[in-house]
Amino acid sequence: MLEVKTKVLISGGGPVGLTLALELSRQGVECLIVNEQETTSIHPKANAINARSMEHFRRLGVSSEIREAGLPENYPTDVAYVTRLTGYELARLSMPSRVSALEESKDGTGPYDCAEPPHRCSQIYLESILHKSALRNRLINVLFGYRLESFKELENEVIANVVHISTGECRIIKADYLVGADGGRSMVRRELGIRYEGEAGIERQMMGGSMMATYFRLSRDPSWLEISPAWQYWIVSSDFRALLMTVNGKDEFVLLSRVENSNRESIDDLELISRAAGCSINAEIILSQSWTAGHALIAESYGRRRVWLVGDSAHLFTPTGGLGMNTGIDDAINLAWKLSAMVNGWGGQNLLSSYEEDRRPIGLRNLAFAKSFAESIGSFDVSSNIENMKPEGHEERRVLGKFLADHGKREFIIPGIVLGVRYENSEIICPDETLPFKDDPYDYVPTSRPGSRAPHVWLSGGLALCDYLGPGFTLIRLNQYKDVDDFLAAASEIGVPITLVDLEYDEICEFYEREFTLVGPDGHVTWRGDVLPQNTNNFLDRIRGM
Ligand SMILES: Cc1cc2nc3c(=O)[nH]c(=O)nc-3n(C[C@H](O)[C@H](O)[C@H](O)COP(=O)(O)OP(=O)(O)OC[C@H]3O[C@@H](n4cnc5c(N)ncnc54)[C@H](O)[C@@H]3O)c2cc1C
Repeated sequence: MLEVKTKVLISGGGPVGLTLALELSRQGVECLIVNEQETTSIHPKANAINARSMEHFRRLGVSSEIREAGLPENYPTDVAYVTRLTGYELARLSMPSRVSALEESKDGTGPYDCAEPPHRCSQIYLESILHKSALRNRLINVLFGYRLESFKELENEVIANVVHISTGECRIIKADYLVGADGGRSMVRRELGIRYEGEAGIERQMMGGSMMATYFRLSRDPSWLEISPAWQYWIVSSDFRALLMTVNGKDEFVLLSRVENSNRESIDDLELISRAAGCSINAEIILSQSWTAGHALIAESYGRRRVWLVGDSAHLFTPTGGLGMNTGIDDAINLAWKLSAMVNGWGGQNLLSSYEEDRRPIGLRNLAFAKSFAESIGSFDVSSNIENMKPEGHEERRVLGKFLADHGKREFIIPGIVLGVRYENSEIICPDETLPFKDDPYDYVPTSRPGSRAPHVWLSGGLALCDYLGPGFTLIRLNQYKDVDDFLAAASEIGVPITLVDLEYDEICEFYEREFTLVGPDGHVTWRGDVLPQNTNNFLDRIRGM
């Protein structure tokens, strides 16, 4: 039987597993990724890539390609709430096109204080770009069409059995570490004996219970949509609740419909599309799947020793707020550098457990936000008057429209949730005397307080501060007269990678108030101060989890 050795084995080549592989390679670590399906996802699930994920993709060198693959450059990313597509528009949240979002980000007028604004791009396109990038990468061994069958964790390695789905060929893979990026049904999580906790399949009028996801193509131009173009159309009527999303801004859509039961035989996809439209529609069904919304689940542990979980294998949310995949991508970035430190011999014995300390509280936080949005949009009844032309219908639409306009802002403009992620109880972060800002979903306060995401600043030459952050730690110095040679030499001696970056005080002092800021490999501030830590070795031991 063929035996292969690698540093990190990743089970699952969805968006999170692929991001982990790319980040590991950026850290110089060789990995192997197995994915049961032969191809990347053919179902457009996630379509909202948030600003933080886009920042990570920028550092991985793929953000421009991903942005090109999103909705057409001038297509509005509005969210419209309608009774039917040919019925009444109840409310609309105007949101910028791809081009306008980038302009807003450059001139600082958008709601997200970052280099990469949120982006609307189907998971189909995203995964394909990440997959191609992994295939091009000499440090990543990509095995699609292979399933992880079993694994055994030993003192110094993990031994896994992998099988090729179509030929039955078996391989033994020996790795220093195994990561389960294998989705909600994670075999890795189950083998570890780790359960999900929380609530599953909460029933609601929308985004809770049985749902159908119908991916379809229209045979003619969608001029039948009697409303102006939007990215999402929420259909809110007394007998039908659904969400229609444009996939390519032209002729492809995905319709997520709330159905009584998910028995495939009893469901007619064309009928669902016609109900959403309010008239008979002919379309080519590309793919139709049943799924269950209303999960608010999180693994009781994110792993141990040599085996860890990321993405949906660690948490499963209802898609409201677009937090599932994005939270997983942030998990992957946090875990990758810690695995790299272990593989390269400079990580301490507590470093990997800090992954769970950092990320599980964020999983719980984002799970609660996703659930609250689902409750807001999914837990009200709609009277049949909503489609009535008479005054009572008008009043019904006015009241519901007001509620939906407010809901739209609360679900889709969430800079605090996306950029305000901070690691408060991390053992490897060195706190200072300052108090945290309130964790407000809508108000992001840029701060270099340890644990926070290093705030974004545009620098001269058009680069963003995050473009200066290296794969290891980055020491930002605002006073070039302060000597750092001994500090950097001590770090280098024990293998802790620290890059020195000198920046102009005037350019960044609004958010970087100290003369030194040490940013971790994941872009979160590890420490800041006006003088370097007194006991260098103790300090370095702390940040490497020793
Ligand atoms: C309708 C819908 C809309 C959504 N919208 C959004 C959104 O806008 N934004 C957002 O952030 N999230 C969204 N999500 C959630 C998002 O799709 C998931 O969070 C995301 O796919 C999780 O990525 P993952 O890589 O962790 O897992 P997955 O995408 O599930 O990938 C896991 C991979 O592992 C493979 N695998 C499983 N077992 C094995 C094995 N034993 N061996 C080898 N391979 C294996 C599978 O084949 C699969 O390819 C949405 C979800 C749905 C259903």
